[in-house]
Amino acid sequence: MKDFDVIVAGGGLVGAAAALGLAQAGHRVAVIEAAARRANHQPSYDDRTLVVNAASLNILSGLGLLPAELTRMPVREIRITRAGGFGTLQLKAEQHQREFFGAVIVARELGNVMLDALPAQSGITELCPARLETFTVETDHVRVRLGDGTLIRGRLLIGSDGTHSMVRQSAGIESAHHDYGQSAMIFNVRPASAPAGVAWERFTPRGPLALLPQPEGRLGVVWIDRSEAIDEAMSWEDHELIARLDRRFGPSLGGFNSPGARARYPLVRQRTRRPIAERVAVIGNAANSVHPVSAQGFNLGLRDAASLIETLQGSGDPGSPETLEAYARSRYPDQEATVRYTDTLARAFTNPSLLARFGAGLGLAAHAAVPGLSRRLVRSAMGFRDPVTRLARGNR
Ligand SMILES: Cc1cc2nc3c(=O)[nH]c(=O)nc-3n(C[C@H](O)[C@H](O)[C@H](O)COP(=O)(O)OP(=O)(O)OC[C@H]3O[C@@H](n4cnc5c(N)ncnc54)[C@H](O)[C@@H]3O)c2cc1C
Repeated sequence: MKDFDVIVAGGGLVGAAAALGLAQAGHRVAVIEAAARRANHQPSYDDRTLVVNAASLNILSGLGLLPAELTRMPVREIRITRAGGFGTLQLKAEQHQREFFGAVIVARELGNVMLDALPAQSGITELCPARLETFTVETDHVRVRLGDGTLIRGRLLIGSDGTHSMVRQSAGIESAHHDYGQSAMIFNVRPASAPAGVAWERFTPRGPLALLPQPEGRLGVVWIDRSEAIDEAMSWEDHELIARLDRRFGPSLGGFNSPGARARYPLVRQRTRRPIAERVAVIGNAANSVHPVSAQGFNLGLRDAASLIETLQGSGDPGSPETLEAYARSRYPDQEATVRYTDTLARAFTNPSLLARFGAGLGLAAHAAVPGLSRRLVRSAMGFRDPVTRLARGNR
C-alpha cells in the first residue's frame, strides 16, 4: 500500500492549489480527482468568470499559478446599483491606493494552469480519474479506498470534494445546509460600449446581476433569480435574453448583443463551523459554500488552502490533533465573517419587505458616505481578513 503525508480528495480549484502548496513545502501528496483531466464535464474548471481578489492573486502567484499567459482582466472600479433604490456605491481602487481590487479569471483557464502544474511538481502523485470511495481512520493514519479497489494511506486526509463532500459526511463533520431557492445563469455578451476595468453589480428585487470585464471588450454576466425563473430563462431565444438583460441592467452601457452559451447553477449555503475531525480537514466548498453575490467562494477556499499549507509547515505529523486544532482556530473568524456577510447580502437585497429594502438602500449609501466603512468593505472584499497568511500578503 502506498504511503503519503497528505491525501487530497478532490482536485478542483481549491484542492489542486492546496496539493501544490503542500508538495512545494516538502510533503508527499496524493491527489484523487474523479473527473478525467481536461474533461468537458470537470465541474470545477468550467466557464465561470471568477472575480479573484488581491489576496487570492498573491496566493496564486506564490504557488506559481499566475503565469504571464493566463488571461486576467483587472478590476479597477466596482459600481454597485440597485433597481429603483436609493443607494449607489462606486469604489475606485486608486482611492484605496491600489492599482486594482482583483482580476477576473475564467475558471477553465485557471484549471488548465493547475493541470499543467500538478504533474510538473515533485512530491505529487495524481490519481485521476479516480474516486475516493471510503476511508477508515486509524491511530496514526487514514486508509483510503478508491473506486477501483486501490488502497492508499496518509497521515492527513483533506476533503476538497465540493459542496456535497463525501469526506465531510463520512467523517461525521457537522455542517448546515440551506437552499436559497435561487439559481445563477452565466453567459457572456458584447456591450455597445463599456469602460475598461469596471465591474458592475446591480441588485434587483428578483436577485443580483453582475457584469464582469472579459477579453475583447466582452462582459461575463452572472444573473441570479428564483430557480424556476432561471429554468425558463435558459430556454429563451437569444433576442429575448438580450431584451430582458437590457431591461434588467438599464441603458447605461447602450445595450448588448451576441450572447454566448448559457450554464446554470443552483445556489446553496453550506456552513461548517468546525471543519476538522480525527485526521481529516475539509476546505473550500466542502467546508463552506457561499452565494456568489459577493464573489467570495473560491477566494475563501483559497484562503483555507493557504492557511492549511502554512499551519502544516514544520508540524512533524500533519494530521495531529494539535495541528488540526490550530488550523480550525485560525480559519474560524474569516469563515464565519465571510459566510455571514455574504448571506446577509444575499437575503437583504431580495427581501420583499419594503422596510428591509429601504434599510438595504441606506446601507449602501452609508458605505459610500463613510470612508471608514467603505475602507473596511474594500479590505474584506480584497480578501485581507485576519489572520492574513504570509501567502496572501505576497510572501512565499
Ligand atoms: C455562478 C457562480 C459564480 C461564482 N463566482 C465566483 C467569483 O467570482 N469569485 C469566487 O471567489 N467564487 C465564485 N464562485 C464560487 C466558486 O466557483 C467555488 O467556490 C469554487 O469553484 C469551489 O471550488 P472547490 O475546489 O472547493 O470545489 P469544486 O469546484 O466543487 O471541486 C470539487 C472537486 O472534487 C471532485 N470530487 C468530488 N467528489 C469526489 C470524490 N469522491 N473523489 C474524487 N474527487 C471528487 C470533483 O470532481 C471536483 O473536481 C462562483 C460560483 C458560482 C456558482
